[in-house]
Amino acid sequence: MLDIVTLGDDILRQDAEEILNINGEIAQLSQAMLNSMYNGDGIGLAGPQVGVARQIFVCHAQNDEPRVFINPQLIATSQEQIPYEEGCLSIPGVWGDVIRPATITVQAVNEKGKLFRLDAEGLLARVIQHEMDHLKGVLFIDHLNETARNKLIKIYERKHRT
Ligand code: ZN
Repeated sequence: MLDIVTLGDDILRQDAEEILNINGEIAQLSQAMLNSMYNGDGIGLAGPQVGVARQIFVCHAQNDEPRVFINPQLIATSQEQIPYEEGCLSIPGVWGDVIRPATITVQAVNEKGKLFRLDAEGLLARVIQHEMDHLKGVLFIDHLNETARNKLIKIYERKHRT
């Protein structure tokens, strides 16, 4: 099982590097990331969260299938923006409402090296945007206003004080 890094680790704040060579190692990494995601009861997990600062994430939203995104690019986002409560395996135990576009079109390469384009809505659109943020060093708490963010960080720190 891959270890999931948590808030405070510098790798969560780095720009992830493009993956130039999609090989067996990347396919293996995808599977290991899916396993770690399921193990943590998450629906998405990005490379930086397992200490790999490369442009890859996996997700499995309810009523959907497991998916792997490599070098993803947002092609379009809806004008309509909606709030949804988000959490993150790297900030366990806290949740906050984040406003994002309701629907998106994303293009990426899968673990077999195949380019694909996907229109997503609902939870799938949400998790894809959350995971794409991770590849730019952005966390969901960055989308909250300062008061909400500080409150959430305080709760997080209280929960995880050793
Ligand atoms: Zn996350």
